[in-house]
Amino acid sequence: MNKNIDFDYFNTLLVQSVGNRVGAIAPTITPSASFGYEDAQQAEGIFAGDVNLPLYARVGNPTNAKLESIVADMEGGLGAIATSSGMGALSMVTTAILGSGDEILCIGGFFGGTYSLVNETMKRFGVSNSFCDVDDYAHIEDRLKSGIKMVIIESVGNPSLRLPKLQEIIDLCNKYETIIVIDNTATPILIRPLTMGADIVVHSSTKNMSGHSSALGGIAVFRAVQEDDKLLNPKYADMHKIVKKMGKKALVAICKKRAMRDMGMSANAFGSFMTMIGLETLALRVERVNKSVEMVADILDTNLPDGVTINHPSLKENPDYEIYKSDFANGCGPLLTIDCGTKIGLLSYSIVSNW
Ligand SMILES: *Cc1c(COP(=O)(O)O)cnc(C)c1O
Repeated sequence: MNKNIDFDYFNTLLVQSVGNRVGAIAPTITPSASFGYEDAQQAEGIFAGDVNLPLYARVGNPTNAKLESIVADMEGGLGAIATSSGMGALSMVTTAILGSGDEILCIGGFFGGTYSLVNETMKRFGVSNSFCDVDDYAHIEDRLKSGIKMVIIESVGNPSLRLPKLQEIIDLCNKYETIIVIDNTATPILIRPLTMGADIVVHSSTKNMSGHSSALGGIAVFRAVQEDDKLLNPKYADMHKIVKKMGKKALVAICKKRAMRDMGMSANAFGSFMTMIGLETLALRVERVNKSVEMVADILDTNLPDGVTINHPSLKENPDYEIYKSDFANGCGPLLTIDCGTKIGLLSYSIVSNW
């Protein structure tokens, strides 16, 4: 799984997909909030979702669309929706699919914002949750059997740096017909969950994808919906109308219609432009950062003062060393943690520059 990542392929894909039809090498920034229609019929078609033209920038914009198509290709998805931030992507996905009375299974530790989204905000709107360790399969299967609607997991836990066996967890979610959302912020290119059978991938593009810290952004990427899809399970009855009407593109439509349109966590054209500029160097940076983080972990690990430990799965004593070698053979992104043994001493370092 993910063993032989062709970084040269991604270098080419991410650079060459930018640009536009008239030959400009840089992507076009279209800041327009609203768009003209040729006639009333065309406008009606756009409103109904039958004509693929921009309607109003809250639900789509040509610059965002360019970014969406590049990231959908990168993740092996059918389509994507760019959002105002990583939290925007997570809010969109959770509010589009869940409602009062539903439950989220949260596997592993979460980024702080995601933790408060599920544990405070979604809870306030009647969505409950349970948390478990990445390898607590008894709990995972128990909650899946009970008929929950969504599982959320990060490809690499921050700051625990626990590595999940993603394929096993994805397979379980498919067995019990449950939507699995994977936050892949730490491992773009390195892990491609949609190609492993996951439903939705989210990123904070603010981090690795941009790499330059000049644009807050997020993106959700979706798989194609099949004719006999698990979304047709009765527990998702409230979405069946959209699934039947929109077919393959149903997950994109569900998020646009049930979250984006009403809540407006939309990306802006300039931010998406900046994200695309960052994407052009993503494959180069990912390869470099992964080598650097292993080197830094190793250097720190051999020079540690008493009471301080360094946590990175590339270190032999790490409990996830074997998974790192087998499932994350090209690295697991820029994070490493240093435990200084006090409450305020747990530091999470992100090596985002090109060391
Ligand atoms: C930063 C981050 C987010 C939130 O993204 P923002 O762009 O800051 O809203 C979500 N998940 C992970 C893993 C992150 O690191």
